[in-house]
Amino acid sequence: METSRIPGFYNMTVEERIEMLKELHSSSDKDLNNIKRHVPLSTEMADKMIENVIGTFQLPLGLGLNFLINGKDYAVPMAIEEASVVASASHIAKIVREAGGFTTKATERVMIGQIQVVGCPDFHEAKEAIINQKELLLEAANNAYPSIVKRGGGAEDIDVRILNEDTESKYNQMLILHVYINTCDAMGANIINTMVESIAPIVEELSNGKVYLRILSNYADRCLAKASCVIPPKYLKTGAYSGEEVRDGVIHAYEFAASDPYRAVTHNKGIMNGIDPVVIATGNDWRAVEAGAHAYAARDGQYSSMTIWSKDEYGNLVGELELPMSIGTVGGATRVHPLAKFSLDLLNISTAKELAQVIVAVGLAQNLGALKALATDGIQKGHMALHSRSVAIAAGATGEMIDIIAEQLIKEKQIRVGKAKELVEEYKK
Ligand code: NDP
Repeated sequence: METSRIPGFYNMTVEERIEMLKELHSSSDKDLNNIKRHVPLSTEMADKMIENVIGTFQLPLGLGLNFLINGKDYAVPMAIEEASVVASASHIAKIVREAGGFTTKATERVMIGQIQVVGCPDFHEAKEAIINQKELLLEAANNAYPSIVKRGGGAEDIDVRILNEDTESKYNQMLILHVYINTCDAMGANIINTMVESIAPIVEELSNGKVYLRILSNYADRCLAKASCVIPPKYLKTGAYSGEEVRDGVIHAYEFAASDPYRAVTHNKGIMNGIDPVVIATGNDWRAVEAGAHAYAARDGQYSSMTIWSKDEYGNLVGELELPMSIGTVGGATRVHPLAKFSLDLLNISTAKELAQVIVAVGLAQNLGALKALATDGIQKGHMALHSRSVAIAAGATGEMIDIIAEQLIKEKQIRVGKAKELVEEYKK
């Protein structure tokens, strides 16, 4: 993408937006036409992906604009049904862009496979026996999936823990083996599961116990991505609120979430409002990302804010978001679903590390969008105006009636389905 700053994109028709994308992006027309035909996933293809298929379920696909991340422009595909999310992400990305853009980084893509062993006659002896044979186990794991080793990844290390050693514990004692596996650009579930299943018989022999579970952990705390931004207060001024007031409001809002799980859940839901749509649009497993993100938010023992907002010595607002990011640019549905492939092409992304960084940048933007609105006018003003068209549709409006009814609802400051139904009846007369 030459630039993700496209003034007026919001006011264009869908056709005009697609033409604009063609001008700005080198992606082939064939891919862009996938969107144009509004048949992103055929029922035939869907029938090959899951079981008992009776059709496909579609979501709106919008573009988060203005994202400047590590100096590179991204127009970010977001698949989501909720109004105002894409607008808010784009609004904040524009502010952050003016302040120099997002800075992001990512760790190596090391995922975790777990093996559960129970009934060992001596758990400490079993642990030692496994540790002593670490190299053998790593070699066996890599032999089970040699292609990932050729790609520069594979099983790298092993760890063993004993759970429920306390005799008071209500659960059985068990030995848990962690295999750390670099999955390169794949999310890696199948790679990891193949590896841990293949070494389970050796683990049983070494431990004299019985192996039950052999599966990846979605708590991918060695596969992290982090985004940060530094925003001078002058860029935060909103209506009658000064930039400093907005900055302080955002920090107070963060401190609320950091100290209260009731608020943290909603605060983090707002972050996932940005993250899930990109994960979905790129064909990734959003349940895996959701589960890992929430666990990471509780890593210190209390469920807390995923983001951190503070003020630096110059009075700038500083935001940070670090999360496990078990996503891929290959595997799963990423290259099967035509719109996932399209989304990855549009992002012009080649590695999973880069995709992970874009995703956390969007999450950070989304969080600031919500906190900035909450700390100033409240979210209903902007949200309900954008929601008004869905309300009109829910009340039975069709065609040109949708925009007319939506505008009337905003004008009368009554964005309710009941009111919309009355207007639809009047319009029909
Ligand atoms: P796949 O098994 O579909 O694909 C990964 C394969 O892609 C690799 O094994 C590799 O095979 C190939 N590949 C091509 N290029 C690369 C590259 N640059 N880096 C890495 N691999 C490459 O996908 P995953 O193993 O990632 O599994 C993801 C799927 O698993 C998701 O759909 C997820 O929903 C599902 N899943 C999730 C679970 C969970 O989260 N708990 C559990 C089970 C499944 P080769 O080298 O042979 O070409």
